[in-house]
Amino acid sequence: MSKKQFKAESKKLLDMMINSIYTHKEIFLRELISNASDATDKLYFKSLTDSSINADKDKLTIRIDLNKEDRTIKISDHGIGMTAKELEQNLGTIAKSDSLDFKKANADNKDAGDIEVIGQFGVGFYSAFMVADKIEVVSKALGAEEAGIWTSSGADGYTIKPCQKDEVGTTVILHIKADTEDESYSEYLEQYRIRDLVKRYSDYIRYPIVMEMTSQVPDPDNEGEYITEINDETLNSMVPLWRKSKSEIKDEEYNEFYKSKFYDYRDPALVIHTKTEGQATFDALMFIPENAPMDFYSKEYEKGLQLYSNGVLIMDKCADLLPDYFSFVKGLVDSADLSLNISREVLQHDRQLKIIAKAIEKKIKNELAKMLANNREKYNRFFDTFGTNIKWGIYADYGMNKDNLKDLVMFKSSVGDDYTTLKEYVERMADSQEKIYYACGDNVDKIAMLPQCEAVKNKGYEILYFTDEVDEFAIQMLMEYDGKQFANICKDDLDLDTEAEKEAINKANEDAKDLLEKMKSYLSDEVKEVKFTNKLGSHAVCLSAEGFVSLEMAKVLSQMPGANDSVKAELVLEINSTHPIAEKLKVVDDDTLKKYTDILYNQARLIAGLPIDNPTRLADTVCDLM
Ligand code: ADP
Repeated sequence: MSKKQFKAESKKLLDMMINSIYTHKEIFLRELISNASDATDKLYFKSLTDSSINADKDKLTIRIDLNKEDRTIKISDHGIGMTAKELEQNLGTIAKSDSLDFKKANADNKDAGDIEVIGQFGVGFYSAFMVADKIEVVSKALGAEEAGIWTSSGADGYTIKPCQKDEVGTTVILHIKADTEDESYSEYLEQYRIRDLVKRYSDYIRYPIVMEMTSQVPDPDNEGEYITEINDETLNSMVPLWRKSKSEIKDEEYNEFYKSKFYDYRDPALVIHTKTEGQATFDALMFIPENAPMDFYSKEYEKGLQLYSNGVLIMDKCADLLPDYFSFVKGLVDSADLSLNISREVLQHDRQLKIIAKAIEKKIKNELAKMLANNREKYNRFFDTFGTNIKWGIYADYGMNKDNLKDLVMFKSSVGDDYTTLKEYVERMADSQEKIYYACGDNVDKIAMLPQCEAVKNKGYEILYFTDEVDEFAIQMLMEYDGKQFANICKDDLDLDTEAEKEAINKANEDAKDLLEKMKSYLSDEVKEVKFTNKLGSHAVCLSAEGFVSLEMAKVLSQMPGANDSVKAELVLEINSTHPIAEKLKVVDDDTLKKYTDILYNQARLIAGLPIDNPTRLADTVCDLM
């Protein structure tokens, strides 16, 4: 029989595929096992309606045989097999997938509900050419008299000949390429490597995948000696944990599964197991780790969930399934109705995937909200670890997700030591209080000591303490909560004063106009204004910022790459009008006033956590006066 050419476009495709579609050579095994599993499904399915077919489920195994001398891998199934014509049709033309036709033809069959066919686009088989320079497919179709053998050494074509085969089913024989300087192929002839690949990619195939394993066991007759034992071993566990119903699964099972699959030594903080039907049908098993992974805050960290199609792993980290603010979630999604483009590996970013992603996002959000409501201690720990991520989520994408996330964020505050949610804050607000007050600083203690806090607290108002760089940015994006605007007590006009208080402070500023102008001139362009204030309680000075940029934001922005001076905060030096120092300023001579101004300004910078430009001069000035 003469050698046939692959169809022209197939030839090109074959080359392209071998060299570019798949990024990992090792997936060839997954593809061939999936084909074997599909073929077995088909036979089993047929047997349900045709009693002449004997499909004993126990015998429906998939077998792998390794032969190092011949450098071959054999993958045999007891599936439906292929006739010579089918060998030609299915393997002679790339992208002609019989699985899809079969599914379509059976779509009306009422028993077909149970059948799930993994491979739907015909290129998977050819991935084997990434590791093999010659492939033989020996197949006997159900009901056929004769078997056929399809042989090909890649893009140059294939032959199909009759051959001898007793049992129905297919055996694919890969002749593994010789090792080159850059590539090793011999690893695929090693038992442990194949076992790992089956575990990794095909663990949940529903038929046993059996291979001979060689192991060393203690010799029962000679103590301390070992003997070599060769046994058939089933490599896959067959039942996906996530397909079982929740009530069947113990906590330990979830925990062990998480730990072995996601390389953590601690139990997860939260397990989310969901079965969804409707717009999209999928099972998802997700975990929130107790600790942030080592590389979580580095660029190396890759978010994503494992993606399975009917128990077969098709992508290890599908980033599209998780929004960035939930990037800490580990887990997997298994769906039968994903449309896969050209191969299982190049996953179309399709509508179905987006629907699943949306559903998953909602699920995670609801579970977190539940934890917040029902187990505050646990949520506090979660928030300590991953809260920053959620706050970035409010800020990111121009606040697109802020409404989703605003009830998941918490802050420390001037009331109690614990975190408070925005909802709780608003519930505690005094009747006279119109705004949600906050202050920024390195840590809670430092913020609590800010001079500006005193007056606000004296009014009986709670202050949120923002200690994370992202906090104020997130809140700016949020703009309001429950109709209440946010006010930075170190920046915004708080408007806490009564009319009489306002009048008094305006008068104090008016009366001291010349003095304050003079002080401002001493500070040249460091500050926009020097003024008296009544908001400092017992403290003498503070710095505040006017305009959009607060002191904390200016600090953060100045540290960002490519920062320039255009995002400077506009500083105002505020002096407590009722503090003895205010009187003192009015009576000293110009020389002393200059020194006092310098000291007050630098004190205010210190309090605000800003650097002092010239500490030596400050120290000298203080000593002078002493
Ligand atoms: P896919 O599996 O994505 O459909 P493949 O290129 O892997 O594409 O296979 C093409 C077709 O060859 C399959 O649809 C199936 O009809 C047939 N086939 C492949 N392997 C087997 C097998 N082990 N037994 C029976 N048919 C097979």
